[in-house]
Amino acid sequence: MTDQLSNRINSLPISETLAMAAKARELRAEGKDIISLSLGEPDFNTPEFIKEAAKQAIDDNYNSYSPVDGYLDLKQAICAKFKRDNNLDYKPNQVVVSTGAKQSIANVAMVLLNPGDEVLLPAPYWVSYSAIATLAEATYKEIPSTIETNFKITPQQLEEAITPKTKLIFFNSPNNPSGTVYSEKEYRALAEVLEKHPNIYVISDEIYEHINYGETIFSFAKIASMYNRTITINGVAKAFAMTGWRIGYIGAPEWIAKACTKMQGQITSGANCIAQRATIAALEAPVSKIQYMVDEFKNRRNMVLELLGEIEGFELNIPGGAFYVFPNISAFFGKEINGFKINTASDFSMFLLNEANIATVSGEAFGAPNCIRISYAASEAQLREAIKRIKNVLS
Ligand code: GLU
Repeated sequence: MTDQLSNRINSLPISETLAMAAKARELRAEGKDIISLSLGEPDFNTPEFIKEAAKQAIDDNYNSYSPVDGYLDLKQAICAKFKRDNNLDYKPNQVVVSTGAKQSIANVAMVLLNPGDEVLLPAPYWVSYSAIATLAEATYKEIPSTIETNFKITPQQLEEAITPKTKLIFFNSPNNPSGTVYSEKEYRALAEVLEKHPNIYVISDEIYEHINYGETIFSFAKIASMYNRTITINGVAKAFAMTGWRIGYIGAPEWIAKACTKMQGQITSGANCIAQRATIAALEAPVSKIQYMVDEFKNRRNMVLELLGEIEGFELNIPGGAFYVFPNISAFFGKEINGFKINTASDFSMFLLNEANIATVSGEAFGAPNCIRISYAASEAQLREAIKRIKNVLS
């Protein structure tokens, strides 16, 4: 019956991150001892003060539709957050609250892209960017990078990738999956290229800004010449361990924010009202309240780098942020281990799942076919056990 489905859905790839997580859950339900390092989600509980705010919102009868673009006091809290953390000036009419940063990104793509427009994706990139661009009937072009440059693209590469059809570039720092953090100088060098092309817009996905290990986080919109064509994406999922609460938001030029509200008004309306009230508590709290999670992620990052570094064939960069390592494992291509032929990163990822019961995500979905993504948003004990198993099946 799939021929009855639209071309749109038939040509849409499945989200590889969610697919691997589902597969891990399935195998676990069958009784297998799977350690899932596939999904990027903090293993912490949402902090108590945020949960309290949500309970209060229920008691205060926040049960009706919210404004499509979010409660005004939440949008004011978002503006204050943008000022406090990013030194960005946004007014509430430039802010739209959505059901997760994923919807924020989809809104922007839907309102800016026409069929035939080109989207640039510095690779590696989060799996859903390409899929969302495709849904918006645009084409996308990857700008490749390698572990040798710490997965950063150069201004020259950007210049060469631009064509008269280029409409949008996705920029994500700290990066999922590589953990790479661009410096202010690097941002400015890329912006210099974009300054020559005034019809190109930037999605600056800053969802991992707080999960960083001492790096200075910069924002595209902080560059004066880019402010009017940058859409800053953020949300509470990663920093506040609120992935399932589904709250993301944008800061953007008012005309783009208005268009996103119009789009959202026809698809989902305002985001969940309880989660919006809880988000106010999250954003109004000092950032120091979540530092314990960042410290813990940093310890795990260091441990994972050390342990994986002992495995021959794993080439690693040092991620400055997010909670993933993204080793180049191409040294295993062409090998046969335990009767399992490994020719691609997907083969390697499936090999780890079948032979070591470890779920990872193949780099192919991120536009980096020599790598796999391992999330270290898991307990130290689980990470140690996982890496031990990986080591065992490879030796
Ligand atoms: N962004 C997270 C990840 O990359 C969550 C899953 C998703 O929505 O892709 O694992």
